[in-house]
Amino acid sequence: MEPQRSPLLEVRGNVELKRPLVKAPSRLPLPGTRFKRGPDRMEAALEPEKKRTRGLDTVTKIATSHPRPPALTVRPQTQSQTTAPKVAKKTGPRCSTAIGTVLKNQKPGPAVPAQKPGAAAPPVLGGKKPTKRPAWDLKGQLCDLSAELKCCRERTQTLNQENQQLQDQLKEAQQQARALGAECRTLEGELARVQAQAEQGQQELGNLRAHVLELEEQLGTQQGLVQELQKEQVGLQEERRGLAAQLEEQERRLQASEAALSGSQAEVASLRQEAATQATLLVEQGERLHGLEMERRRLHNQLQELKGNIRVFCRVRPVLPGEPTPSPGFLLFPSGPGGPSDPPTRLSISRTDERRGTLSGTPAPTTRHDFSFDRVFPPGSGQDQVFEEIAMLVQSALDGYPVCIFAYGQTGSGKTFTMEGGPGGDPQVEGLIPRALRHLFSVAQELGGQGWTYSFVASYVEIYNETVRDLLATGTRKGQGSECEIRRAGPGSEELTVTNARYVPVSCEKEVEALLQLAHQNRAVARTSQNERSSRSHSVFQLQISGEHAGRGLQCAAPLSLVDLAGSERLDPGLALGPGERERLRETQAINSSLSTLGLVIMALSNKESHVPYRNSKLTYLLQNSLGGSAKMLMFVNISPLEENVSESLNSLRFASKVNQCVIGTAQANRK
Ligand code: ADP
Ligand code: MG
Repeated sequence: MEPQRSPLLEVRGNVELKRPLVKAPSRLPLPGTRFKRGPDRMEAALEPEKKRTRGLDTVTKIATSHPRPPALTVRPQTQSQTTAPKVAKKTGPRCSTAIGTVLKNQKPGPAVPAQKPGAAAPPVLGGKKPTKRPAWDLKGQLCDLSAELKCCRERTQTLNQENQQLQDQLKEAQQQARALGAECRTLEGELARVQAQAEQGQQELGNLRAHVLELEEQLGTQQGLVQELQKEQVGLQEERRGLAAQLEEQERRLQASEAALSGSQAEVASLRQEAATQATLLVEQGERLHGLEMERRRLHNQLQELKGNIRVFCRVRPVLPGEPTPSPGFLLFPSGPGGPSDPPTRLSISRTDERRGTLSGTPAPTTRHDFSFDRVFPPGSGQDQVFEEIAMLVQSALDGYPVCIFAYGQTGSGKTFTMEGGPGGDPQVEGLIPRALRHLFSVAQELGGQGWTYSFVASYVEIYNETVRDLLATGTRKGQGSECEIRRAGPGSEELTVTNARYVPVSCEKEVEALLQLAHQNRAVARTSQNERSSRSHSVFQLQISGEHAGRGLQCAAPLSLVDLAGSERLDPGLALGPGERERLRETQAINSSLSTLGLVIMALSNKESHVPYRNSKLTYLLQNSLGGSAKMLMFVNISPLEENVSESLNSLRFASKVNQCVIGTAQANRK
């Protein structure tokens, strides 16, 4: 604890810190002689202050170097001064001694002779020591007293003057005291303000200390953080070094890549140039190709025409296991003019007239029947060989020519095998229908590269007893569907359509397979109610082909018809006509009628007759667009290799020969 200091001193000290008091006017300009003891007494009075202020700074010391005598020091003197005359009046010479004593301490006044203390000194006149007058010398004594009185009066006057002076000084001192009081109050006010400031400062200091503590705490946290960051920095620096190495590697690679890229770019530029040249060439080639394609179509058609718009192929099925082997020479396939390397076109069938031989007892005569067709397929011919021959014809349908392929022959001669294929789904024995469609899809795709787009819609119906049924019927209509009617697609339209029949868009083999499977199922269901109906009906598979070349505004459309005709065998006239046979007879008559109508239609077309009897049968009516002047027709005549079927085989071969002799005008593509 600091010792309590005088507020005044403290203030002065503080004030003097701000403005030194060196210039402060002397508030008590008392003459040094009169207050000779003043400073000592003041020092004595100030001693405690000095003691208290000892240890303060030099400014405080400077302040004490101008001591102001306290007001108290003046008073005793004043008292003594005022009381002195009274004492002098009573004591006489003693009074002068007292006054002298007083004056001795003051400034040197007029010369007063020194007297021994306690002795009444007579007035000194003329430098002579006054002598004691005898008692009687009253006059002298009176004179002495007068002189002394005069001296006293003078001294009184002097003293009065001094008194006046002192009073003035007192007033001045009082004024100074008041001024000091005011100053003291000011300083006190200042002190209070400073104290308030100090308190505020303390408070601020406290706040600052708290803040400092807080900051120190923060600093601690920050330092911790800094350490962590430094650690992290070390880690990052290492990582950075690693990355820098990677970067360097990448840059090296990039440079290599850039070098490669610039090389590639140059290559690309040259390739582009080449591509542009190629594109120009391609356009030219495209033009040429189109020209060539049109030329190909023309030549293709010409070739087909040269081969004949009605062609007849004869196919002899092999002898099936369990069937009797025909005698050698029963069926012969003489080679053509080009020798054995030529594809066979001829067929010889020998018929032995058993009755004539038996009657005459001589060996039965054998009659040889020779037939010539566009192509003859001996029993060993595979499905692929057969298709190879018709592939070009089928392709004509894509070029816009109606194409119609029939399979004609007695039941069991291999018509269904030829058109649809053998049993078991073996690809080797696949028939013409799946092969033709696969070929069409493939060629259409190729033509797609030249700007052609094709669409295909399939239908499959059977004509039994002059009624049309849908073989693609599904659901409730499956197998026993309601009858269908053949109608024109629209008023004035040439196109025919079968009502109630499904027309299914197809674009791949699988879809075609599914359709053939469905037709097979539908036939199987029908077979349960009417035995062997399939061989007693015509199956007509039709594919509507539409092609478009958008770039050149070309369109073509044509039907491809693949017909598995009903068995051509005639009813045995020797058979008894029971209820079943009657029905059979009716079927046979219907079949024969439709087949002969087909022959007649072909004849009429060949002879360019004005009336073509299409309407005489459902079959020819349905196929009229595939048989007309612009159509290409192919007939397979299927022959059994068995001798027992020779009669039917000859009938079939004769019918086919007639057809083969027909030439239907020049086919024209259905182009728009
Ligand atoms: P169609 O339809 O004329 O009545 P199919 O096609 O049903 O005659 O043939 C009768 C039988 O002869 C079937 O079992 C069939 O598999 C078989 N067949 C027909 N042609 C051939 C052939 N080229 N190769 C092998 N088998 C055949
Ligand atoms: Mg059949």
